[in-house]
Amino acid sequence: MCAKTIKRNETFPCGNCQQQVPISQRSCRNHCCYCLWSLHVDGNVPGDRSCECQGLMEPYKIESSSKGYMICHRCTKCRQMKKNRTAPDDNWDKIIELTQLT
Ligand SMILES: [Zn+2]
Ligand SMILES: [Zn+2]
Repeated sequence: MCAKTIKRNETFPCGNCQQQVPISQRSCRNHCCYCLWSLHVDGNVPGDRSCECQGLMEPYKIESSSKGYMICHRCTKCRQMKKNRTAPDDNWDKIIELTQLT
């Protein structure tokens, strides 16, 4: 194991738009609240940061579920797909834009 551990909830620079992503009020944020792109860092458990892919994950679709809106991300490197819950401080203009694509 690498000695450097990555804390789950901290600011990080977005790999897509380069803006500093602030700490989420709830749970661990793993996507950029400005452009909604994410990083492929988690393995099977959300927040475990066990994946070494580190690819950029593109938001390609929004799905509505009983829990609210989910952002569907697709890794630009390994093509794996993941779903993430939206946060209240996400860029809702962007989310709405994505819901209209489908
Ligand atoms: Zn971004
Ligand atoms: Zn990946």
